[in-house]
Amino acid sequence: MKDWNILKYKYSNLFYNKFFGFECDDGWYDLIEELLSKIQFFDVKISQIKSKFGGLRVYVLTNDSFVNRIIEFYEEKAKKTCEYCGNRGFIVNERWIAVLCNSCYYKKYFKNTKKCYKFHNDECYNICA
Ligand SMILES: [Zn+2]
Repeated sequence: MKDWNILKYKYSNLFYNKFFGFECDDGWYDLIEELLSKIQFFDVKISQIKSKFGGLRVYVLTNDSFVNRIIEFYEEKAKKTCEYCGNRGFIVNERWIAVLCNSCYYKKYFKNTKKCYKFHNDECYNICA
């Protein structure tokens, strides 16, 4: 489990209010920390950071186009990063849309769907191969 409070206090100057919370899973922690470190000295107020429709969304109040480009870069990077563990992931559209790696996909969905989304591994071998 990642301690999101560390990020909250370390970059407290970036957040719009003290009730700020991160609404996404641990796999994006490192990516978000990197993002915050890159924009920490700019005039920026972040109102929300969340996972929405499988994507990282950073809601920010700024007119600085450089900051907006940095945020876009990390939102793109999140599309290829498993939200649960941080490994390389792909977009899965099951009960909801999420970015998952092969292994998290199997843990979360395969037992119910018995459907191989993209790659085969030992767990699906008998059914799919
Ligand atoms: Zn994963």
